[in-house]
Amino acid sequence: MRTWSDPEPLVWARTAGDRVWDEDGRDYLDLYAGFAVAALGYCHPRVTDAIRAQAGEMTHCPSAHPSRIRAELYERLARIAPQPLTRFLLAVTGSLANELAIALARAHTGREAIVSFSGAYLGRSAGAVPFAGKHVYRESAGVAADAHFLPFPDTYRSPWAGGRDPGTAVLELLETALTDPASGVDPVAAVVIEPVQGNGGVVVPPDGFLAGLRGLCDRTGALLVFDEIQSGFGRTGRIWASEHWGVVPDLMTVGKGIGGGLALAAVLGRDDVMSTWGPDATTSTFLTNALNEAAAVAAIDALLEEGLVERSAELGARLLARLCADLADAACVGDVRGLGLFVGIEIVVDRETREPDGARARDLQRELRRRGVLVGLGGRYGNVLKLSPPLVVDEGRLFGGLATIAEVLR
Ligand code: PLP
Repeated sequence: MRTWSDPEPLVWARTAGDRVWDEDGRDYLDLYAGFAVAALGYCHPRVTDAIRAQAGEMTHCPSAHPSRIRAELYERLARIAPQPLTRFLLAVTGSLANELAIALARAHTGREAIVSFSGAYLGRSAGAVPFAGKHVYRESAGVAADAHFLPFPDTYRSPWAGGRDPGTAVLELLETALTDPASGVDPVAAVVIEPVQGNGGVVVPPDGFLAGLRGLCDRTGALLVFDEIQSGFGRTGRIWASEHWGVVPDLMTVGKGIGGGLALAAVLGRDDVMSTWGPDATTSTFLTNALNEAAAVAAIDALLEEGLVERSAELGARLLARLCADLADAACVGDVRGLGLFVGIEIVVDRETREPDGARARDLQRELRRRGVLVGLGGRYGNVLKLSPPLVVDEGRLFGGLATIAEVLR
């Protein structure tokens, strides 16, 4: 089966750092890091060395047995997890991590109801897609929605808020849902949210919103679950995006870049929540294997020791300033926003009406690829060009790529 929709797919042959080569030997600057996975760049030497060494020693250790390399990974996770998230459950994919987090929240609270948000993307597995904003994602899987959805407070695209701060408006709605005995909403097990929405279009919530969610969860006994699979691991200029607002959830899911390019995800949680499940409450043959654990240990060390989180903040601020300046007179650009090396460019038919233009965004993405620059595409209407370059991206190539983006969009 095909897993791509592009009629002329780029056939990947080789990768290094911020570059991808196709089968014809053409090279591209990847400002999307392969769906935000190559946070450390492709084939980071420390990660590659760790994989090579581990491959000669042990690639598989069953989830049912402990091992030194898994313990090392737990130690690294303890180093970067926000307090008091002190216990970890490994998973191969982000979708599985989210399934496990929701199941844990339900088991811990003895409640069923989940609150999610418009534009949310928690993965496409049958256990994660019920919480997705886009119903089309559920149609192929044949599963129904399983959450109460509230609007994600998007400061550019929340006409329903009538000019009020959308964060305050959503918090008021949620408060009613959680506290009005006749709201129709059963007691809520968890409020699950991406602190910065990724596939929803790199949407940054207004200040105070996540803290407001924290307060409402504390008051009503719901758990707060942050999906940091795309927004975490240095992407926004902090290790976790939620650090920008000083809010710590009860459960957090991580994935993508943390495996250094191999498949690795995890649930990080508070001790009392995680210990709801005893040993063997859940397992899978590959909750990870020794090879991805070794890659993740090297990836976490590289992130911290090479100052990549700070680089993401510093370079990201300059990237955003450059794009805002260069795209100020681009008629098709409605909004440019982001945090750290995580940026969204909203493509519209016209700036007044803000009507989204998904078809043009796709054309622009193709034209950029023709010129050797890879960017992502997302947003509720498929009209947001997404930048999430490797945190190690070469500065000269980055600003060269931004000049190409400005030229094409103008
Ligand atoms: N959560 C977020 C925020 C994501 O961006 C993704 C993937 O894009 C997922 C979960 C699902 O992760 P995976 O594709 O590894 O199952």
